[in-house]
Amino acid sequence: MSSDAEWYLNSLKYNKPGSIPHDFATAVEDGCPFDCGLCPEHQQHTCVGLIEITTRCNLACPTCFANAGPGYDLSVAQVEAMLDRFIETEGQPEVLQISGGEPTIHPQLLDILAAAKKRDIRHLVLNTNGLRLAQDPDFVRELSVYRPFIYLQFDGVSAQTYENLRGQDLCGIKKMALDHVAEAGLHAGLVATIVRGVNENEIGEILRYGLEHPSVLGVCYQPVTFAGRCLNHHDPLHRVTLPQVLHDLENQTEGLFMVKDFRPVPCPHPTCSASTYAYVDDKQVMPLTRLLDVDDYLDFVTNRVLVDASAVIKPVLEALWSMAAVMGSEKTTNNLTCVACNLNLNLPSSVESLVEHFFSVHVHGFMDAHNFDLKRLMKCCIHQLLPDGRAVPFCAYNTLGYREQVRQEQEALVGR
Ligand code: SF4
Ligand code: SF4
Ligand code: SF4
Repeated sequence: MSSDAEWYLNSLKYNKPGSIPHDFATAVEDGCPFDCGLCPEHQQHTCVGLIEITTRCNLACPTCFANAGPGYDLSVAQVEAMLDRFIETEGQPEVLQISGGEPTIHPQLLDILAAAKKRDIRHLVLNTNGLRLAQDPDFVRELSVYRPFIYLQFDGVSAQTYENLRGQDLCGIKKMALDHVAEAGLHAGLVATIVRGVNENEIGEILRYGLEHPSVLGVCYQPVTFAGRCLNHHDPLHRVTLPQVLHDLENQTEGLFMVKDFRPVPCPHPTCSASTYAYVDDKQVMPLTRLLDVDDYLDFVTNRVLVDASAVIKPVLEALWSMAAVMGSEKTTNNLTCVACNLNLNLPSSVESLVEHFFSVHVHGFMDAHNFDLKRLMKCCIHQLLPDGRAVPFCAYNTLGYREQVRQEQEALVGR
């Protein structure tokens, strides 16, 4: 569950009360976690909605928790119906992640992005392994019309890491993909799956790579999820935990980022994830949490808020320590700028250059059958949107058979 009892126990005070969606899709019948959902017992609305637009993939990663490979694509009409349902349950949804499989090989990805834009979903995020972005710069230019934030699978800087986790050396592919993203004026976050004994020694180098590449605005580390194909290759009892990543980051960056710079994210269960932000200027990296005691605003249990400053800063910090914060978006940049102004940091005057002065580091410890915790699941705010209108907390979708159920239903529909 955790390799740092102090971190685990301390994180519990960051538990922000949830808010419910406008509508529930299921009733309480068999009890949690078999009624997803969302059912009326769920304690948080959807901060991030995910749509798996295809189960196909152009890689066959040994660590794939989604068992992607050959499969089917959702039609644009199906995705449009799912988007409409997302709006019914959320009003104006914050973040839509388009995922898969590998979404860039869906032949109508651009139509799907257009459909999401038309519905005024605030932020679009595209989860990708980067293969097509590296091989097809024209496609990246076409993508840029819809301004998605690119959430790029990026597990390390060595050939061995990619051979182990992805089945082939992808170092050159990742670099080329990021270069094309930068050329198209888009921004990216590096998403690193961390596997014990494989790439936990590259945690610091991944961060430095991100800080140096002009398109990269953040890094998200994800200890591997022991589900799907991953179980054939790795031992779930030999795992990296969230605080382990924080300690490794501190040790491997000579304290550039330290464990004490991070705070749990309060909108899901606070043991699920941790974040920090830094102001980056001329190779100087200053975590904002060293300049501002965010505990004064984000500690929801002891509630030691400073009355004077709280009216301005509290909502800004709550929006930053949220799953709905997307780096590079106008809202997150404005919030970071507000914090930086309150700290009297010397900010550049142009808004465009402001975006690239902020950097986020996030660690998300997804659950699987071996560390499952219903309390965390009931407060989950990252939900897989299903073609039948349900929304299922992401860890339930990966672990409890919901993914397989959807796959069977869709394959029956397309006559496989
Ligand atoms: S995880 Fe949430 S939606 Fe699913 S059954 Fe439990 S309370 Fe209901
Ligand atoms: S992990 Fe991602 S890139 Fe790899 S096979 Fe699965 S969906 Fe494809
Ligand atoms: S997806 Fe899993 S780890 Fe993430 S917030 Fe939901 S329950 Fe927590």
